[in-house]
Amino acid sequence: MVLRRDRFDLPEGVIYLDGHSLGPLPRAVPARLTEVVREQWATEVVRAWNTAGWVSLPTAVGDRIAPLIGAPSGTVVVGDTLSIQVYQALAAAVRLRPGRRVILSDTGNFPSDLYIAQGLIDILRAEHTLRLVAPDEVEATIDETVAVVLLTEVDYRTGRRHDMARLTERAHAQGALTVWDLAHSAGALPVDVTQAGCDFAVGCTYKYLNGGPGAPAFIYVRPDLIGSVQPAIAGWFGHRAPFRFDVGYDPAPSIERMRIGTPAVLQMAALDAALDVFDAVSMHELRAESIALSERFIAEVETRCPQVSLASPRAPEARGATVSFAFDAGYPVMKALIARGIVGDFRAPNLMRFGFCPLYVTEADAVTAAEQLQSVITLEAWRQPEFQTTDRVT
Ligand SMILES: *Cc1c(COP(=O)(O)O)cnc(C)c1O
Repeated sequence: MVLRRDRFDLPEGVIYLDGHSLGPLPRAVPARLTEVVREQWATEVVRAWNTAGWVSLPTAVGDRIAPLIGAPSGTVVVGDTLSIQVYQALAAAVRLRPGRRVILSDTGNFPSDLYIAQGLIDILRAEHTLRLVAPDEVEATIDETVAVVLLTEVDYRTGRRHDMARLTERAHAQGALTVWDLAHSAGALPVDVTQAGCDFAVGCTYKYLNGGPGAPAFIYVRPDLIGSVQPAIAGWFGHRAPFRFDVGYDPAPSIERMRIGTPAVLQMAALDAALDVFDAVSMHELRAESIALSERFIAEVETRCPQVSLASPRAPEARGATVSFAFDAGYPVMKALIARGIVGDFRAPNLMRFGFCPLYVTEADAVTAAEQLQSVITLEAWRQPEFQTTDRVT
């Protein structure tokens, strides 16, 4: 069992099925933050950039994420937000394919990734196009006009999972590069960017990696590409020697060239402490248990709640760790569930999402969640007025 509930500070009586949105607080985090604030910031002040190693946190923490995504040490750096890292990776990939004009993605991709791609195309004076196809049409659409294939491995709404190795192979056969978004993969299932041959990968750390709200994102570049990548957001921390303050940009020879500006030290320290939870966790074991939990939940819900329909792929290997059910009143139902301590979330127009992370969710939790869903639906508890208003964040 990978169960480590005692490593998390979860509220009493809560079954937490929302790790795909914000991971729970690892118990090691508050003490680390206090240490960084009191013993580094308060005591060392500016000297802490050197004495406490703040300046190296982006690569040090990147090297801790690397094994979770199958990347060698020295190929991952942490910083900024995922949206920014999508831009940084995509722009760099487009620059490596100067003769090509198509960025290919799918209609299931996360909107921010698509908006970022469109925004980049706009500043490229619209000489490029964003071609969007249905997820199952991506493979057949990759041809020799495609510069970059930009995909999210696990769909944020349904958990549908792309075959990263196969699509990357197809892209390479057509001379295209890939940018993989691992937002719903890292920490949720085994990922192997090396075996899959990914060119660029990005992901966030506040979902299954439990780094906390606003935790910085990560970016991976295939080792043999690092030396030829020209960062579009060429910030001073990506310079070979930031403290030479040269007027011209000369990128660092390492993955550090993907860095931009001053790192968010407190967030990185929180993330660093959060990653301790993964020490000695086998991602294959975690995945097997996550599938067992999801399968049990689906079976329970389908027996108890004929009113809802499974929106996720039925085959477990075709899903990530999220299971979604469609129901017209999904939003008030989810609010009613949350009021009962079953915390999942909702994605428009009608999807109730439940994430199964076996580090803090048990099979008994999965059954209880299904029982409560049945109760909310059969008693129509979701019709109560307090569940009818829509919050700003769903
Ligand atoms: C969560 C998520 C994001 C969020 O990006 P931020 O910049 O961290 O807000 C982007 N892309 C995907 C695929 C996501 O799942």
